[in-house]
Amino acid sequence: MSKTILVVDDSASMRQMVGFTLKSAGFDVIEAADGEEAVKKLNGGATPHLVITDLNMPNMDGIALIKAIRGMAKHKFTPILMLTTESAAEKKKEGQIAGATGWIVKPFHPEQMLATIKKVLPG
Ligand SMILES: [Mg+2]
Repeated sequence: MSKTILVVDDSASMRQMVGFTLKSAGFDVIEAADGEEAVKKLNGGATPHLVITDLNMPNMDGIALIKAIRGMAKHKFTPILMLTTESAAEKKKEGQIAGATGWIVKPFHPEQMLATIKKVLPG
């Protein structure tokens, strides 16, 4: 059975690029445009095996989303990768403290992203 990945980014083109890469690799993809929509989908029963989230988003940013996910009994241990620019060291640290599993550097490279996913996705 293929694994499902929740992709959260306020940039539609970013969601499209990441989504395309994931689908090409055989994953099912759920998309959300910000943290609020992601939380809504998770509370609505979405059960992704992995979450990939942007950090800078309106309504609810990535850090707040990571904290919210870690507060959900069902998703306490779901791997979370943040999408961040190489220069955003502070944000990276903040994300890790909030409970992120790792990160993917923007602009992202498909092979690199899939290699990182392989590392954090069991099975
Ligand atoms: Mg953004």
